[in-house]
Amino acid sequence: MKAIVLFSGGLDSLLATRLLQEQGVEVVGLNIITPFHDCSQEAADRAKELGIELVVRELGEDYMKMLANPRWGYGANVNPCLDCRAMMCREAKKLMEEIGADFVATGEVSGQRPNSQKIHQLMLISRESGLGGKLVRPLSAKVLNPTEPEKDGSLDREKLRSFTGRGRGKLVWLARKDYDIKTIPQPSTGCVLCENS
Ligand code: SF4
Repeated sequence: MKAIVLFSGGLDSLLATRLLQEQGVEVVGLNIITPFHDCSQEAADRAKELGIELVVRELGEDYMKMLANPRWGYGANVNPCLDCRAMMCREAKKLMEEIGADFVATGEVSGQRPNSQKIHQLMLISRESGLGGKLVRPLSAKVLNPTEPEKDGSLDREKLRSFTGRGRGKLVWLARKDYDIKTIPQPSTGCVLCENS
């Protein structure tokens, strides 16, 4: 069983990767560079630590077109988070099909970000990306509808998690206690599009 994990190198993507690895899933990380965000070096360093292959893809002109008129609008500033996440998941779908992976996973946590991670927004991203039930959120799976790999038994839903909300404490605890991740990445504040200035 092989999965593409949207991989920023942040804590959430590290934990999503580890949760899948412990169920025997081979993970390929996908890091996406946008015109406003590049965390590819950090992702490469973290991928090396986890022993996973990392693919880096860049969004350019299509991203700028989306930014001019995002279907789902902007967040607090000019951050089109819902459209941006859907676009990234579409890239992950392409890679999944290219390399014959079985599903896509992200480190999204239900309710963690007000602009893109409420339950209905996660469902919208699943639908808009074309992934539907092939998009798994291992950190919040147990508070979401079962996905295809959970339904067909490829993933044990009971071993996935039910994290919700903005607090990071439980995630940090899990990283330290269960996965021996010693260097905890700093929390992300989003990309430059989220900044007032
Ligand atoms: S913070 Fe920036 S990179 Fe992250 S989802 Fe929003 S628009 Fe995309």
